[in-house]
Amino acid sequence: MKRPFISATDLDKITAEFPTPFHLYDEKGIREKARAVNKAFAWNPGFKEFFAVKATPNPAILKILKEEGCGVDCATDVELLMSHKIGFDSSAISFTSNDTRASEFAYAREIGATINLDAYEDIAFLEEAAGLPKTVSLRYNPGGVFTLGTDIMDNPEESKFGMTKAQLFQGYKDLKAKGVQSFGLHAFLASNTVTNDYYPTLAAQLFNLAVEIKQELGISLDFINLSGGVGVDYTPADQQNDIAVIGEGVHRVFDEILVANGLGHISIYTELGRFMLAPHGLLVTKVLHRKKTYRNYVGVDASAVNLLRPAMYGAYHHITNMTNPNGKVEVVDVVGSLCENNDKFAKQRELPEARIGDTLVIHDSGAHGFSMGYNYNGRLRSAEILFQEDGSARMIRRAETPEDYLATLYGFDFEK
Ligand SMILES: *Cc1c(COP(=O)(O)O)cnc(C)c1O
Repeated sequence: MKRPFISATDLDKITAEFPTPFHLYDEKGIREKARAVNKAFAWNPGFKEFFAVKATPNPAILKILKEEGCGVDCATDVELLMSHKIGFDSSAISFTSNDTRASEFAYAREIGATINLDAYEDIAFLEEAAGLPKTVSLRYNPGGVFTLGTDIMDNPEESKFGMTKAQLFQGYKDLKAKGVQSFGLHAFLASNTVTNDYYPTLAAQLFNLAVEIKQELGISLDFINLSGGVGVDYTPADQQNDIAVIGEGVHRVFDEILVANGLGHISIYTELGRFMLAPHGLLVTKVLHRKKTYRNYVGVDASAVNLLRPAMYGAYHHITNMTNPNGKVEVVDVVGSLCENNDKFAKQRELPEARIGDTLVIHDSGAHGFSMGYNYNGRLRSAEILFQEDGSARMIRRAETPEDYLATLYGFDFEK
């Protein structure tokens, strides 16, 4: 059973004040999640979660995470700019980009973000573009497939990210020769894993690599970044990951491999996005139309521009009818208004009868939800609302207006 974090009565008050659709975030849930992650890794004195900004790039959300002791991981200069302006310390900002522009490396250097290089070739590019900082992290891609037991989790071989093992070793050697003093290692090998074993398995691989790096190159890494990839239970059938169990699993291999080899000083970093935020966001939408042809359709006022994952990945997002939770169950497609047949939040889903005017919530939209939005068909991005710990609601981003959409067009005067 998936339950929304807000009651129907509380949500009614918010929809009376703010027109749908909008993304609603749960401050309490976000704070509790950040505390649980920090607690799970408290055994590692240097631990830090660098929240993946791309998941939920809103300053109000990032500030909450900052208050809970998290840093941020950025992929572009705009994400860096936002993080810097919000007031994150340079030590709390990492820059994990790829196919990076010279100006972005220069800006990352200017604000003192920790740079994590995606490619061996980036070493020379960074040196040319902005000079080498004292600390550099390298992103590893082992190739092949990443498996847990008999399950294939993901396909690093096909991933554009990271560098080979040979490049990684050559990279550390080059960087050391060029005067870099402090080193990190990063890898992201599988996405949205719904198992407590992903992080410990990944960590063991990286910890063994750290031992090899020490033995072969005489370099003791300062931090190992397990990146993102810890998933959430999008479907009611999925098991929820237990971050305490995950943290203990990483602790065990840390002791077995790193401590045993004199590398117990290494700090563990994470870059969780989805795990931190997805369950703490709901896309709130109202039913505009019913239509019956070969299927039953429920037309809502949100569309794929507000939440792309179902259209892009065929991803499941649970839907709750807040107004008519005990209605007669029917099989429907829940659709938005785009002139694209993949604009469906649910296909052939059993839901309590959704009547015109009912409020539906689409679950787990708190990460990679609003941020993947776009403007197809001239549909505008929605507002974002924060459901605060005291029970009040605060708008943290207004909805786009037609003027926003037209503002970048050149050579026409829309005032006329
Ligand atoms: C997207 C991304 C993350 C976050 O991934 P989640 O699946 O949201 O945990 C972390 N690090 C990097 C480099 C990423 O690109």
